[in-house]
Formats: sequence, C-alpha cells, structure tokens
Amino acid sequence: MPVQVLRELEAPGPVPRFDIPAWWEEFGVRAGVTGRGEGPGRGFDLGLWTDAPVGEVMGRWRQFRNGFEDFPGVVLGDQVHGVQLARHREVRGWSQVDALDGHLTTQPGVLLTVTVADCIPVYLLAPKQRAAALLHCGWRGTSGGLLSRGIQTLREVTNMAVDNMVMHCGVGICGACYEVGSEVMESCGQAAPGPGPWHLDLRSVLIEAAQQAGIRRISTSQWCSSHDRPRFYSHRGSGGRDGRMVAYLGYPLGPATASD
Ligand SMILES: [Zn+2]
Repeated sequence: MPVQVLRELEAPGPVPRFDIPAWWEEFGVRAGVTGRGEGPGRGFDLGLWTDAPVGEVMGRWRQFRNGFEDFPGVVLGDQVHGVQLARHREVRGWSQVDALDGHLTTQPGVLLTVTVADCIPVYLLAPKQRAAALLHCGWRGTSGGLLSRGIQTLREVTNMAVDNMVMHCGVGICGACYEVGSEVMESCGQAAPGPGPWHLDLRSVLIEAAQQAGIRRISTSQWCSSHDRPRFYSHRGSGGRDGRMVAYLGYPLGPATASD
C-alpha cells in the first residue's frame, strides 16, 4: 500500500493544536500535536525539562488538558532518547513516569503524550482492539529499535496481526533540515557516501521499518518542525532555544464511535 500523506489540521480553540480529524472520524481516536501558538515570549511551550518557568508551563498543560475532558488520565514520560516503553492501565490524573520514550494503552480515557521539537512522534493503533501506542523517535530511538518494540508490544497485548495495525509519522524535522554526522546515518542504516554533509529523513527510516515489520497502512505528516517554525517548535531550527510541543493519542471514555 502506498504511504498516505495525512496532514494535521489546526483545531479551533484557545490552545494551539493540530489534530488528525481523519483518525477521529474513522477510528474514534484523538490524535495530534500542539503548536507554537501566538502568545508572547516562547509561546505555548509545554517542555517540562527546559529552562522555561515551571509554573507557566504547568498552566499551559492544564489549558491543554481542558481540551480533553473525556480523558481522566494523562501519561507523560521523562524522555531519555531510549527504547523503553510501558503499558498503562488505570490512570487517574497525571501520571509522570521516568525514563520512558514510549507508551501504550488499551484503556479508554488514558491520553498518551510525548514531547517533541524535531523528533518524530509515531502513532500506532490496533483499531479493532482500541489499543494505542505513542513513541518518541529521534535518531537514537529510531536506531535502537523503539518502533519495532512498540509494534511487538502492541501485537502481544492485543493478539492482533501486524497487518491490522495503522501507523502515522507526525510532525517532525524533514530530511532537508536535518544535517547529521556519518555515524548517525549509519546507525539508522543509511549510507553516508562522500565527505558529507549528510541529511537524515527520520520519517522515511521509520516508514521503511514499519513496512518491513508488516504494517500496510502507513501515513506521514508533511509538516516539518523546522521549515514550519511559525507553527511549530524546532530544536535544530532554533539553535536549541525553542520550546516543546506535545503529541497526544488516546481513545476517549464512552462508547466506541469507530465504525468497527
Ligand atoms: Zn524541513
């Protein structure tokens, strides 16, 4: 199956947010990513481990959460560019977990989140089981195999064949904007011919890995966090000064709205 281009669309409301309405309509799942917004200073920065004042950041997290009333639980991890992921069952309120770059749940009402600013948020669904996984894939997570772990865990938890899964590569840095060293290219299985500079297209690497794992239905955002910096945050595009966006994924409480 060809890879579909699925663009996140700006949602109305006080929080700068880009949803994937096609997934809501087809699968009844809430998915998307926050944006930079037009506020003063750093805008709608949701980074908890940056130098932004914590009180202001938490205020924005509360605002963000107000848009998800049908989610009693929100999960976020202190990300370390690793390959660990965890399954979350009953979650009430905030659940902040150490050293995790991937989250998975089969529980409606649990909103999974990862923070990003160039790294690729990878959204995985097993729609028939209403199971969801959200992965934070920079080059380290990608080269370490976080995606294949996510697919494998989703398969074990749902007992679903991989070809029933659906994957989306969200807003992140494009290949043209992401200059890397040859060691990064090689760790991600890419050739690094000549003297460089080399450019890594993380989404292409992830898509190829998903195809090899057997996922047939794959889509990708075309937003680039660096090209599209008026809308998004880019660590690379800002020389490390930008804030963080939050990617989110979850099935809301209540009856399934998806057609299956
Ligand atoms: Zn770009």
